[in-house]
Amino acid sequence: MRTVYLNGQYVAEDAGQVSIFDRGLLFSDAVYEVVSVLGGRIIDETAHMARLERSLAGMTIAYDVAAADWPGILATLIEANALEEGTIYLQVSRGAADRDFLFPAPGTPPTVFAFTQARKLVDNPMAERGMRILTRPDRRWGRRDIKTVQLLYASMMKMEAKAAGVDDVWLVEGDVITEGTSQNACIITPQGHLVTRDLGHHILPGVTRLSLIDIARASGITVEERPFTIAEAQGAAEAFVTSASLFVMPVVEIDGLSVGDGRPGMETMALRKAYIDQACAHP
Ligand code: PLP
Repeated sequence: MRTVYLNGQYVAEDAGQVSIFDRGLLFSDAVYEVVSVLGGRIIDETAHMARLERSLAGMTIAYDVAAADWPGILATLIEANALEEGTIYLQVSRGAADRDFLFPAPGTPPTVFAFTQARKLVDNPMAERGMRILTRPDRRWGRRDIKTVQLLYASMMKMEAKAAGVDDVWLVEGDVITEGTSQNACIITPQGHLVTRDLGHHILPGVTRLSLIDIARASGITVEERPFTIAEAQGAAEAFVTSASLFVMPVVEIDGLSVGDGRPGMETMALRKAYIDQACAHP
């Protein structure tokens, strides 16, 4: 049984209980992060904590990330659960108060918890075969840059992908791709440029996306942060997604059409390796 973190305490997972009045439950009034662990060490920890602070500020949830000692909490969870490879989920909600659309009075303590999930990240069979994806309308709310727990639409789209026998969905506005259900979307153009959607309210500023852009630029690849269409992605040399748990994952098919030769792209796989190497070297 796992040891989880809840409101300042480490408890057995079945003892971690929150109020039925928690605003995270009633209003999705909560933000979260998912960090990956390789070799018992967290990847991109500083950037994830910075985004947590940004999400909390965007929701005006009063919670001092720096004072909470997340490095210590995460290290304790890793040790208590002997986590070598996997992810840690952490969530901060506005806390529990009698149900009311209006936010509770200042001083209501946030509900804070975190738990580990052991799983293989590097040896993911999907990296060998590549992902097949569908496109679907992006019907999420307009502040996708805040990492809230409102994940129902993403969850429904993943179910739709599963029912269709493919791996995931890329969300589109008109014919322009915003991002994956839980990843940022990227393509390599026939000229060898890496294209990914520019930041704004329409997508989550992915931590992996940010690291990868640095890695790509350092290796001499031109990076263009701009909108791109479904047709441009289908006609790209390569396509892939980035996320904390998938790292860099090739996409080989979009709406039934092969990308490139229909196999994981060489550039994509080189970027995946470079990302994992960097994560192992500088967690
Ligand atoms: N976009 C969405 C909608 C996500 O939910 C996620 C991660 O969960 C990402 C992008 C990738 O972000 P990161 O690289 O920080 O995991």
